[in-house]
Amino acid sequence: MSEQFTQLQARLADVHNLNMAGAVLDWDQQTYMPQGGVQSRSEQRATLSKIAHQMLTSEETSKLLSDAERDNDGYETTQAFLRVARREFDHATKLPAALVEETSRVTSIAQEVWAQARAANEYSMFAPHLEKIVDINRRTAQALGYEDKLYDALLDQYEEGMTCAQLDPIFKQLKEASIPLIQKIAQQPAIDDSVLARDYDGQTQKSFAERVLDECGFDFNRGRQDLSVHPFCTNFGRGDVRITTRLNTNDLQSALFGSLHEMGHALYEQGIAPDLDGNVLGGGVSLGVHESQSRLWENQVGRSRAFWKHNYRRLQEKFSTQLSDVSEDDFYRAINKVEPSCIRVEADEVTYNLHIILRYEMENDLLEGRLSVADAPEAWNAKMQQYLGVTPPDDAHGILQDVHWSIGAMGYFPTYSLGNILSAQLWNRVLESAPNMEDQIARGDFSVLLPWLRENIHRFGKIYTPKQLVQRATGSPLDVAPYAKYLNDKFGTIYGL
Ligand code: ZN
Repeated sequence: MSEQFTQLQARLADVHNLNMAGAVLDWDQQTYMPQGGVQSRSEQRATLSKIAHQMLTSEETSKLLSDAERDNDGYETTQAFLRVARREFDHATKLPAALVEETSRVTSIAQEVWAQARAANEYSMFAPHLEKIVDINRRTAQALGYEDKLYDALLDQYEEGMTCAQLDPIFKQLKEASIPLIQKIAQQPAIDDSVLARDYDGQTQKSFAERVLDECGFDFNRGRQDLSVHPFCTNFGRGDVRITTRLNTNDLQSALFGSLHEMGHALYEQGIAPDLDGNVLGGGVSLGVHESQSRLWENQVGRSRAFWKHNYRRLQEKFSTQLSDVSEDDFYRAINKVEPSCIRVEADEVTYNLHIILRYEMENDLLEGRLSVADAPEAWNAKMQQYLGVTPPDDAHGILQDVHWSIGAMGYFPTYSLGNILSAQLWNRVLESAPNMEDQIARGDFSVLLPWLRENIHRFGKIYTPKQLVQRATGSPLDVAPYAKYLNDKFGTIYGL
């Protein structure tokens, strides 16, 4: 290993540590920090990220990186390290400082305004800010560079190597699988899920979820769960991976499935190989692959019959008054109710991806100037009607619902659906190697699933590109067919189609 490479590693480890320290401050802000800390905290975080950015983009890093590239030992992990380091360096240096600064200024105001606009149901308040954000994203894409479409440059930030040319056919297939299924389900009697809105004590929900996390394999010696307004997962290395949840007494699903979802992200980070920890290769490879882990635990596991065969009686014991008259079958149907609705984060498995496709299409149209910011709410509502057969009652339940655009993120949404698609491919693959896995889960035995994911996904960190990892783990490229079959089989049975 060359001297330059060792020095490069050390330097990037410093950058990494600064970013991790920033992440601790961020976690604290979202969990325990008193309101009065906002101002000084934002300055502390800005200082840390400024120093990290300076170190990453400095002449010295640039030289070490070029030298190490020229004179590398050819080992797989060295090559991977250099690929990821180059990607991070290029991303940080391609964006002009003025654009980075403008983005931060515009989005910090836009977030505030967005929250007010949503509360007041007043799109016109947010529109001028969205206008700026679309323009900033256009310039960001131009600075990052792309071959075919502006969107490709933005998407690549979250999902390396993914392009519209690959996504368009994937989303077309996903639409063709989802829309007819939704229409068939709509002709069946609706499932009554009112039992999930009975009064459920928050702390009891939390302790039940923690027991489930423990059984699934979440390592509480290397992680913890706290409360926050919006659930999230963060980590400061594989030895300290934290998730949050929220407790809603009139919604049994929110804490339970939210915890399972964030646990899926956390298990990925806890499973990174120890020798990759603390540097550029230590961490999940892309948002899509990350989301495949969270969705797999939330849905393929958490909303499965097998899982509740084991867990339902225990849940009933915790909530004996609320669930005494609810059978396991009725409960299973309630948590899998399909109903087109306006809000993405509340969407069921069948309708969810249409919310994503809508956003993907609108982002493209906005970026390429086919759609104006002024006309966007109308376009949103028209697509909702076309895909899901519902029209939002107002913009707060329509175009103003998500935080993403206000923080400047365009090109992010597709990763949610990529995660769903991949989760089914992975699930099938595990079943091929362990055909009895569902019986084992029904007995509360998770000894197959997590080790399989560790072996085939988690431990690699960023050694492989997302595409290489998918190919390696599933034996094929990203493929909608297993996910379409999963939806049709599962919901076909539930709705008797
Ligand atoms: Zn997630």
